[in-house]
Amino acid sequence: MTPPAVPAALPPLVADFLADRAAVRAALDHYGSPLHLLFPQVHAANLATVRAVLDAGAGPYRICYAHKVNRSAAFARTAAAAGISVDVASAGELSAALAAGFPGDRIEATGPKGVSLLRAALAAGVTVNVDNLWELSTLAELADAPVPVLLRISGFPGSAPSRFGIDLAAADTAFDVLTRHRDRLRLLGFAFHLDTAATAERVRAVAACLELVERAYGHDLTPTVLDIGGGLRQVFTADAARYDAYDDALRAGLLGRGEALHWGSSTFGYHVAGGAVHGGPVFHKYANIEPAAAILADLLATPLPGHSGRALGQVLADNLLELWLEPGKALVDQAGVTLASVEFVKTAGNGATLVHLDLSRDTVTAADQEVLIDPVVLAEPAVAEPVGVFFAGHLCLERDLVTQRQVRVAGVPAPGDPVLFANTGAYHMDLSAAQASMHPVVPKVAVRHSDSGFTLCPDADYRVP
Ligand SMILES: *Cc1c(COP(=O)(O)O)cnc(C)c1O
Repeated sequence: MTPPAVPAALPPLVADFLADRAAVRAALDHYGSPLHLLFPQVHAANLATVRAVLDAGAGPYRICYAHKVNRSAAFARTAAAAGISVDVASAGELSAALAAGFPGDRIEATGPKGVSLLRAALAAGVTVNVDNLWELSTLAELADAPVPVLLRISGFPGSAPSRFGIDLAAADTAFDVLTRHRDRLRLLGFAFHLDTAATAERVRAVAACLELVERAYGHDLTPTVLDIGGGLRQVFTADAARYDAYDDALRAGLLGRGEALHWGSSTFGYHVAGGAVHGGPVFHKYANIEPAAAILADLLATPLPGHSGRALGQVLADNLLELWLEPGKALVDQAGVTLASVEFVKTAGNGATLVHLDLSRDTVTAADQEVLIDPVVLAEPAVAEPVGVFFAGHLCLERDLVTQRQVRVAGVPAPGDPVLFANTGAYHMDLSAAQASMHPVVPKVAVRHSDSGFTLCPDADYRVP
């Protein structure tokens, strides 16, 4: 049996570029292999979709692109040119945001911050999304004019514990600091960022923050912002049914009821016991087929308990609260791909076909995850006969198998064949440990389409036309 295929979703712009195989090879010849390609126009289109949902279902709003998803200057410049704001989580990201054209009043600093980042944030005049009470007091000490602050809240009923934010139960202490330092701290409002796409959980967090808004009024504070963070999801798969078919075949193989598609003792987070497969797989994010815009529209339209059936978006608008969002991966969804090349093909001792590539697993996924959309060989095989192969990485480490599962290819690839990894733009591109083995940093190239066709340039050189 050859494994079922799991095709990746590709926007037409990206698919058009990849369809010109001569252009793909030319890009690899010119910039080297492997190579990250960024499509700023897809980023801009994602933003337009999110804006359309907010225009229809919310009052005033602000979108802060979460810079940490990708170091790309092209993406940051695209967001700056579109007039949105940015969320930075380090001094480096703050400098990059300023260089990309964001003025201080369109920058928000989130995440854990030490004194030096707080000083940099103050110097740049950005909004500080405060993580903890130490940070709030330190800001009051360091500031010489009122700093706009959001209080990041966590510890909502029913949410998993978070290492970030001020616990809901400690809000009164925060109000004390804010009222003692009215000349140094200006409370803009409340923020949260949840590691979930579950609407019900976000609704509970919004409800809790609305109560904090009421309590803040009681302290003569005048919050005007509710920041619901990021967490809108990406769509990787082009075909949910084929994803499910693969998952079924993989699980059958783990149980010994079909051909083993997994490598060695890999179980992908599944727990095999008592003749059944239990638990959720590490690749669960690849199953999502609900676009970010739909998740956001659903959230805005959900009635907020205790507000006579009014939708969440409406309640915020009625309360004159500005809705802030910090989407990261949703804005770069399908806007980046990674190209590699086949170095050689070999047969392992267990009979598996190993297609060796010139990149490492951690260039396209976090080590403990597995990509459940298929890499695509962008060349015709010498013999067209579908076969299951494992893609192997170039690090001299046993674990550097790019896929720990068999992938269906149209035929055994040849050295030099380009291989595509789709939708690597969020969080994958900058995390590689390959430098430890003295492999160079994988270059990033921005691809733009115009009437005269596609033009490529190094990411750092990209300018929004
Ligand atoms: C990482 C992060 C985001 C972006 O999250 P996504 O899931 O990529 O949308 C937004 N806000 C904060 C505070 C973050 O840490």
